[in-house]
Amino acid sequence: MKLHSFFTFRTVKFINGRQLDQNPNNRESPSPVTRAVFNWRFPGISTRLFCKESTHKAAIRWIFNCKLSFKIHDYLSGLGPYQFRIECLRAGLARSFNNLSSHNPLVAARSTYFLSNSRHFILHECFKSNYWTSFKTANQLKKVTWKTHMNREFIRCHQSSSQSSAMIGYYLPTIDNSRASPMFHLSSSQFYLTLKWRTNRCLPYRYCTCSALINRSHIVCVLASTPAYNAILSSSRFKTKLTYMLSLPNARHFNPLDHLLNIGDHLTFLDLFYRLKTALDAS
Ligand SMILES: [Zn+2]
Repeated sequence: MKLHSFFTFRTVKFINGRQLDQNPNNRESPSPVTRAVFNWRFPGISTRLFCKESTHKAAIRWIFNCKLSFKIHDYLSGLGPYQFRIECLRAGLARSFNNLSSHNPLVAARSTYFLSNSRHFILHECFKSNYWTSFKTANQLKKVTWKTHMNREFIRCHQSSSQSSAMIGYYLPTIDNSRASPMFHLSSSQFYLTLKWRTNRCLPYRYCTCSALINRSHIVCVLASTPAYNAILSSSRFKTKLTYMLSLPNARHFNPLDHLLNIGDHLTFLDLFYRLKTALDAS
């Protein structure tokens, strides 16, 4: 439940678009998860619950010490997008409720509430979650841990986001305990240089030695004579990843530098990047 610390919620009641309860002392204060479930149950009818996505973005900006947060930051941090985190919370709630003892009063209350037509009864919604349902299905086919399954959901979420963002597509996270990018182990200067590359903000408006504008797909002029660059370019591992990238709608400019970051070879990445920068500075 560490995720709770990143979220704050505020309840504001509306009827016909008019805010009714403006006195903070009169506001209800259910738990964040209860509010989230209520929000799913009654989206935008008479009660609107504002889950502060801005708090999530503020946390991301703090982690990366930047003024703007991008989607790629969600994945580099290992947190995942805001909606993914909410779904994880809901899945955790559903898992807890479904593992209650049959003698627990909430289990008995669930069947009673389920019979009610009142839209204010949300208890049975607390037993539901798409992630929880998919976990049960996966577990029936082959035993998996809860943590492994949630990591798979994270990867699925990443693959889905890759369809609309090349930056996210170029980043291929590995399933490990932290999910966060290994770039967090770099020194501060190396970290920010790597982050700039990941967010496509390296070498803006610079020109190649051939006078073409430098971009992700145009680094070969400078690095073609570098053995390390050619070794990556001809490796079967890189070719496999490149084939995958070409299958994405807009990730055609995947290059050896991206690949080096994905496999965690930061030293070679930095070496090639500084060679590139030095050549451009001298031209
Ligand atoms: Zn060139």
